[in-house]
Amino acid sequence: MDNNNRILIIEDEDKIARFLELELSHEGYEVVKSYNGRDGLEKALSERYALMILDVMLPELNGFEVLRRLRKVSDMPVIMLTARDTVMDKVAGLDGGADDYMTKPFAIEELLARIRLALKKKNNNISVNTGNILSCRGLTMDIQRYEVTYNTDKIELTHREFEMLRVLLENKNIVISREKLLEKVCGYDYLGETNIIDVYVRYLRSKLDDIYKVKWIQTVRGVGYVIRDDE
Ligand code: CA
Repeated sequence: MDNNNRILIIEDEDKIARFLELELSHEGYEVVKSYNGRDGLEKALSERYALMILDVMLPELNGFEVLRRLRKVSDMPVIMLTARDTVMDKVAGLDGGADDYMTKPFAIEELLARIRLALKKKNNNISVNTGNILSCRGLTMDIQRYEVTYNTDKIELTHREFEMLRVLLENKNIVISREKLLEKVCGYDYLGETNIIDVYVRYLRSKLDDIYKVKWIQTVRGVGYVIRDDE
């Protein structure tokens, strides 16, 4: 779980955007504003945000299109905001991957409640192991799709690196011996050659820890390795 409390508001009506900024800042959120769809999407893809508030009617790219493109790479919670209260819009928004939907004019208290709910849901998702998705501190492994991502970044791993990371994530918070890792990742043919594991750990760290400045893989001297929820 990250403590990022930054919210991205994509809303072209300055009055509403500033009102939201004021209210959300007052609640302790850090707010970034964007006034059109294209710029907002760029911001969403280049920085980390806990949540997005997305207007539907926007210049450059409309809200549905922003959401569609965002969802290809990110599961950031999105609350859509619109003046148009039609069932079709709601369905389009939720089908497109919006977490929630609000119709203008809205009561700020209701929006705040929905933001809290969306963030809570997101944090719950992170800690629940669904079987196909493993994750730890922003790092996500989708086993079925054979994909590893850090926020919106896709990380390219070799098969062995992937398997190694998988074993560590499946046993999150549990120290695994180098022998056990070797057996799981390389099989019995490499019995005794635990230095292979150290090499793979080094490769993984160079692709993960070193680049994103997060210490995922911890060494437990004389024992093995572990990935923990905290450092
Ligand atoms: Ca608008």
